[in-house]
Amino acid sequence: MGVSTILVVLVLIWGVSAVLSGWLAARKGRSVRPWTLLGVVLGPLSLLIHVVYPARYVATGVPCPQCGKPVGARAVACHHCQYRFPAVDVLITTVPADPESLRVILNELAREYGIQYADAGRMLEKLPVAGYRHIQPTQVGEYVRRLETAGAGVSVVPSAAGPAKPS
Ligand SMILES: [Zn+2]
Repeated sequence: MGVSTILVVLVLIWGVSAVLSGWLAARKGRSVRPWTLLGVVLGPLSLLIHVVYPARYVATGVPCPQCGKPVGARAVACHHCQYRFPAVDVLITTVPADPESLRVILNELAREYGIQYADAGRMLEKLPVAGYRHIQPTQVGEYVRRLETAGAGVSVVPSAAGPAKPS
């Protein structure tokens, strides 16, 4: 294998690393250009950096019906104009006794609230478990359906929308 072959292989590896680095950056919500450049400079090493570098949190927003500014999809009220979103409280009223179903419900709770499995267990010790959510009818429906499939008793309580009440 001649020097030129080695050179071609190296250029290929560095090139692929650069493209991969840029692609990974896009997937993680980071700027593509600097990460591609990093791939050009560091080659495969840049991919190692991707492994330890966490993805950037990208908030998904919805426009506020009153002021039109973007607010978090799970916001209960708009932080620009204090408009209150129509919201539903998904109450878990009963849970099945068998450990397998309980495990499924604990997993649902942990994911829903973004908390540890153990903390979800603590929440279930005191029923009903409340979860006040900005209304995303499809999302709530899926969540409720999954809970009910696992054998939990669920009650959905709506609350009124509108401008903030003067306090
Ligand atoms: Zn607003």
